Amino acid sequence: MKFIVDLTMGKLVKWLRIAGYDTVFYNSANPDKLIEIASREDRTILTRNSGFIKKKKNSLEEKGIPHLLLASDSVEEQLKETVNYFKLDLKESSFTLCIDCNKPLIHISKEDVLGKVPDYVYQSYNEFVRCENCKKIFWGGTHKERMEEKLMNLFQQKMIDWLYIVL
Ligand SMILES: [Zn+2]
Repeated sequence: MKFIVDLTMGKLVKWLRIAGYDTVFYNSANPDKLIEIASREDRTILTRNSGFIKKKKNSLEEKGIPHLLLASDSVEEQLKETVNYFKLDLKESSFTLCIDCNKPLIHISKEDVLGKVPDYVYQSYNEFVRCENCKKIFWGGTHKERMEEKLMNLFQQKMIDWLYIVL
């Protein structure tokens, strides 16, 4: 499942990417363009704009575009609403997409990151991935970091933690 999300919900976009779901932004100022992109790229629309859903109900149904009107202002609640409504599985695909670019992360060897990550990271972690687009390196380990805790709290699932640096 791929998503297209209101420009105003930037945090939700990042969390969906962390969860491994291909997600892009849109500007709700142009509803016809949004429907065109969602239809062409086979994306599910997430929005807080009830006016849009009301106005474009027929068009959305005709084209069979899945969509969800999110009720909450908080990113945690928005993510829960989305996960519950679409029954998303977050274990399988988590941490496979770059948070910033929405592009796949590629596994790289420990030798390849020598000198490119802080020493303590090199010493402490064995698994590294890199975004081929922005070249950020992400790493996993056993420490409880904020992302892991947040996702665990949200979905009661065990995950490894990932951090990143800009090269
Ligand atoms: Zn990237």
